[in-house]
Amino acid sequence: MSSWPRLPAAIAVGLLALGCGAGDPPAPRLLLLLTVDTLRADSLGAYGGERALTPHLDALAAESLVFETAYAPTPFTVPSLAALHTGRYPAELGLRTNLSLLPSGTPTIASALAESGWKTAGVVSNVVLRNRTDLARGFEVYDDTMEQEEAIRRWPERIAADTTDAALVVLDAWRDTPEVADSPLFLWVHFQDPHGPYTPPPGWRERFATASNEEPLPTDPTSFGEGGIPGYQVIEDRSDPGFYRAGYDGETAYMDAEVGRLLAALRERGLYDDATIAFAADHGEAMGEHDFWFAHGHHVTDEVVRVPLMLRVPGRDPGRRPDVASLVDLRPTLLALAGASPSSKGQGRDLLAPGADATNSVPLLSTLSAYRLQRQAIVADGYKLILTHDGEIWRPSLYRLGDESIDLAAPAPQITRRLRQQLSELRDALDVGVAAEQRTLSESERQELEALGYVHEPGE
Ligand SMILES: [Zn+2]
Repeated sequence: MSSWPRLPAAIAVGLLALGCGAGDPPAPRLLLLLTVDTLRADSLGAYGGERALTPHLDALAAESLVFETAYAPTPFTVPSLAALHTGRYPAELGLRTNLSLLPSGTPTIASALAESGWKTAGVVSNVVLRNRTDLARGFEVYDDTMEQEEAIRRWPERIAADTTDAALVVLDAWRDTPEVADSPLFLWVHFQDPHGPYTPPPGWRERFATASNEEPLPTDPTSFGEGGIPGYQVIEDRSDPGFYRAGYDGETAYMDAEVGRLLAALRERGLYDDATIAFAADHGEAMGEHDFWFAHGHHVTDEVVRVPLMLRVPGRDPGRRPDVASLVDLRPTLLALAGASPSSKGQGRDLLAPGADATNSVPLLSTLSAYRLQRQAIVADGYKLILTHDGEIWRPSLYRLGDESIDLAAPAPQITRRLRQQLSELRDALDVGVAAEQRTLSESERQELEALGYVHEPGE
């Protein structure tokens, strides 16, 4: 993309009128949403990581509000990112898997900003985010080019170096195209790299390899990570967990270097100082907690749903925010920052509103309903309640927030009962009518995904 695509005349005239009539363009001039697939919060030094994987993200954190306790609503890519972009829980949108499609007409961050005169562009690098998902709606430019193939399962992907390059092409086209350069830009960039199979470029795995005496793990090719290495992760028949941890860390450090290159390029172009930057992950990754290995999905424990969430807002002091946040909070927060009014209500709260730091979000978490054991959870009052459907009843587990080693459901029945009631009430209050116009895959879309092995592969 060497120049910005030309707009239909009627829309271009509308934007011109908006820009002239409304005086100053909305602030900020550049809103950058960076998301990373499968990135545990504690991989970042800013979140307590001790392996020095993320120097560039840690530098960004030092300039940001860092939300220490932030949750993805589900450990699946498409439903989680759809919740981020719409401010709606997956259950409201009827999203159950990575094959689900956004209901037609669901307002997103991009669609609201486009209506307010912003230029909008997305650069995504996970095959499940190709524009068939409708997350592309609202983006004037949506670059989902993927020229690499993942190891092992042979799906298309785009590595971080190419993702950063593609983002810079968009930035330069915006800056260098006279008829759009005066409009503010919302740019979403999604990096895929920490997602398995863990195959960072040469040298990155080796950097984090450590000697280990751990027991080898089973490598059942049909496994999704329960009790052993998932089939799609197995590389060269390796069964030593340290090999995979080093691969995951290598992918994370490599991604961080490319995020650093992107931010350095903003500085070179004079765009960094005034840029508002939001950073988040779509979900985490289990590294053996609860005997769940190198996978996400299926659980709602912290390792798979606790995510980094940071907001760098020029003019605002950086700092740490201990209040609980959710990815559904990003839509109201970013639209308020951009001076755009949401065209519909959603579930989240504006994290930067006066007094917001004295309020906790009450995240609902779910494994959705498509695969294996169903789990739902709520985070409230310093606890997490998880309900697991064992085929007949919903069995509760209760944890003090941040410590999921001791189940308090039996010793604390009153808290368990109270959170269970709260979970039930919040679920009953969800606006499931949003999903009334649910779309389904066309036959050709389904065939394309089946050719990739996707329909039968829930390991996302
Ligand atoms: Zn993901």
